[in-house]
This record gives sequence, C-alpha cells and structure tokens, in this order.
Amino acid sequence: MTDATQNSRAGTLIIGNCQAGVQVASTLRELGDTEPIVLVGEEPHAPYQRPPLSKAFLKGEVTADSLTFRTHDFYRDHTIELVTRERIVAVTRTVTGGEAVAESGRRFPFSRLALTTGATPRRIPFEGSELEGVSYLRDASEAAILEQRLRTARNVVVVGGGFIGLEVAAGARASGKNVTVLEAAPRLVGRAVSEQTSAFYLQAHRRRGITVVLNAQVVRFVGKHDTVTGVELSDGTVLPAEVVLIGVGVLPRIELAEQLGLEVDNGIVVDSRALASDGVTVAAGDCANMPNPSITSWGVGRLRLESVQNAVEQAKVAAATLLGMDAEYKTVPWFWSDQADLKLQIAGLSGGHDQVVLRGDPDTEKFSVLYYRGGDIIAADCVNSPLDFIAVRNALHTGLAIPAAVATDTSIPLKKLVSAAPALPRK
Ligand SMILES: Cc1cc2nc3c(=O)[nH]c(=O)nc-3n(C[C@H](O)[C@H](O)[C@H](O)COP(=O)(O)OP(=O)(O)OC[C@H]3O[C@@H](n4cnc5c(N)ncnc54)[C@H](O)[C@@H]3O)c2cc1C
Repeated sequence: MTDATQNSRAGTLIIGNCQAGVQVASTLRELGDTEPIVLVGEEPHAPYQRPPLSKAFLKGEVTADSLTFRTHDFYRDHTIELVTRERIVAVTRTVTGGEAVAESGRRFPFSRLALTTGATPRRIPFEGSELEGVSYLRDASEAAILEQRLRTARNVVVVGGGFIGLEVAAGARASGKNVTVLEAAPRLVGRAVSEQTSAFYLQAHRRRGITVVLNAQVVRFVGKHDTVTGVELSDGTVLPAEVVLIGVGVLPRIELAEQLGLEVDNGIVVDSRALASDGVTVAAGDCANMPNPSITSWGVGRLRLESVQNAVEQAKVAAATLLGMDAEYKTVPWFWSDQADLKLQIAGLSGGHDQVVLRGDPDTEKFSVLYYRGGDIIAADCVNSPLDFIAVRNALHTGLAIPAAVATDTSIPLKKLVSAAPALPRK
C-alpha cells in the first residue's frame, strides 16, 4: 500500500461512476472542496441515467448518448477526473488514506474513499441461461443488445414481475410483441406495493394484452443452435420466446467493502451520515444499507433502497461527511415507474402500515393507494395522479397529516386536505 502520508494530496477516490458517484463528486465541488477528485468506473460509457433504459430507450425514443448526466466539459470545468473502463479489483486503506488497484494494474491512491458501486442483477442458474437471447438489464450495453433483439422478436418472455420486468414487458407489448410475464410470487411487484396496487397492475397489463402468470415456476430455458427458443415451466408448458428478460432483483456490489473489512448486511452498512463501519469510508446508493427515518419509528431501522432519488440524496450526505461537515439523511423516499401509459409515483415507505385507503377508482386507471400507520399517513402509490403524489410527499416532508376519513373524497384536491389537517380530529 502507498504510505498514507504520501496521499495527503491524493484527494477523493469515488469507485462507481454513475448516479451516486457523480453526485458525490459534484457535491464535493459545490461544498468548496478543492482537492483532487477521481471518479472511476468499469463501464465504457460516460455516466448516464439508467431509468430510461427499460422505458424510452427500448422503445427507440431516445439514444444512449442522450442519457448522459453531464457533458465532458462539466468534468473538466470542475476538475473531476472521470475514468471509464477501469474495474477496481483491490482496495486497501489506513485511516488517512489508501490505494485501489484496477484489473488493468492501474493504481489509484486516495486520501478519502467513497464506494458508489451500485448493484448487479440477481442471476438465476437455470439450464439454458447461457443461450443467446436470455438477457439481463442493468447497463447501457445490455440495453443496446436487448433493444436489437427486440426488433426482430415476436415472442418475449419476462421472468420476474417487478418494476423493470413490467416496464420492458409494457414497451414490448406496445410495439406488438406477444409478451408473457412469469412471476414466481402470488402477485406483481410484491416487494414494493400493496395488494391493491398489485391487483391493478395485473388487470391493467392483461387488458393491454400481456399474459401474466403468477406463481410461475420456471424450470429451464430451451434453445436451438445456442439461441433461446422458449421457457419451460414446471407444468411442462413451453412458452415460445426469442427474447427472455430476467428481472428478478439485484444484489448490492459489496466485494470491495468486504475486502476493506467493512460491515456488510444486504449492502454496505452505513450510518445516517453515510459512514461505513471503519468510520472513514463513505458509501451511497444501491450498494448502501442506511438507517431511514421513515421506518425507524416502527423498529425496522435501516434498509437498502434502489432508486435515483435515494442515490442522489445519500451521495449528497456522503460528500458532506467526507468534508467533515454535519449532514444526515432525512429525506422522504420517492420512486417512479412508467409502464405503458401508466405512471406510478410512490411517496414514502409503506412497510408497517395498518390501514390502506383507496382514493379514486382503479378502473379509471387514475387513483391512489394511501397507507397509514396509527392514523398517520406514511406512504402512497399514485397511478396517473401526480397531484396526489406531490401532496403526500409534501405532507410527509412537513410532517402534516392527511386524515384517512376524508382522503377518499376525490372532489377535494389532496393538497387541500393536507393544509386542513391540523383542524381535523386525528385518530
Ligand atoms: C433498467 C433500470 C430502470 C430503472 N428505473 C428506475 C426508475 O424508474 N426510477 C428510479 O428511481 N430508479 C430506477 N432504477 C434504479 C436506479 O437507476 C438506481 O437506483 C441508480 O442507478 C443507483 O445508482 P448508483 O450510483 O447507486 O448505482 P449504479 O447506477 O449501479 O452505478 C454503480 C456503478 O459502479 C460501477 N462499479 C461497480 N463496481 C465497480 C468496480 N469494482 N470498479 C469500477 N466500477 C464499478 C458499476 O459498473 C456502475 O456503473 C432503474 C434501474 C435500472 C437498471
């Protein structure tokens, strides 16, 4: 290892140059840091937005180039050294510094370290997984291959009824493919939304012509000449498929954290300042497991979120922490998913709710599901209801109430119920 004292001007090394990594770098500069910043990532592309990969990009509405966050001028003007195509395979550190080494042998000394390594798709080891046409979707290169395959495919099978799988399924269906979604659980997007919202999406996708199989057990992928031709289920059914997308969740990238001996538990365990267990390294984004004030009140304490907003907010905190400033993650989580013409926006975290209130009629494809705990609103799933989303997000942010008893009245904008809340009796 490089002697730590030699690293005093080595500055900050940020490993992982995407959503969280870019935010750490830009926040460091905004906060006045003048030390060197190196932002290193393994992908060949300049940092880019992932969400459109399963939406507009697959539909051919945007190009990969248009997804980049910042121009090259931004990195130059802010003296942020952007390094692509370098996978860090080893990292060692002392309290005051350390060094990371890339697969190529290139060395990156640092005095401060941020891990923003993200996550990688969970792989399923079924027979036939290596067949051409069996795809995962995490990065721009995978999206480009998938987009090419989808052009000529007639039959598409999506394994996993989570957000990314459903977004891809909806896009493929809109362009005329025969699409089947196979979900192993009894409902769609079960980890993130209520039964009501799951049931709505099941019906909505079926209405649009997607076949959805719940409780599906995939046995293997079948193929011919090294190319996938179908998916076999446990009942012996073989669904034809020229494209199979597997979207069954992601795993946090913790390899480097483990090398550093950091505490790891479904991600890199950090405190609300984004500090890892060694007290000097920070971590943010999909790789980090952080206390979340939205859930600590009912005893769960911490969680790992996978969203743009979370990556950005944690990264801001991580940057401040690196500079020794006081900062704490306090924001209300929010998330979105676009499936066909259905825009889902989620505010807050619904875990631990004891009451669910339906606002609007799901048959109109414009409604919200509000979640309460002990009479307090804690979250909402809003489908094509952006004003409800904003009202709930603001209420959660300001700590105001939206009484469940009146929230069903769609003739009153939700934001009016928020402001009226203190005058109304609380449960
Ligand atoms: C298809 C898709 C659609 C999505 N849609 C939405 C959406 O609608 N709304 C939403 O809120 N979120 C969405 N997300 C999630 C969102 O994109 C992620 O939460 C966000 O990108 C997390 O940012 P991150 O910086 O933590 O991780 P990442 O964006 O994964 O970036 C981590 C980077 O680190 C690099 N890296 C990891 N290890 C190393 C190493 N050892 N050496 C060098 N580089 C390394 C990786 O290659 C990667 O480029 C979507 C994600 C995907 C894939």
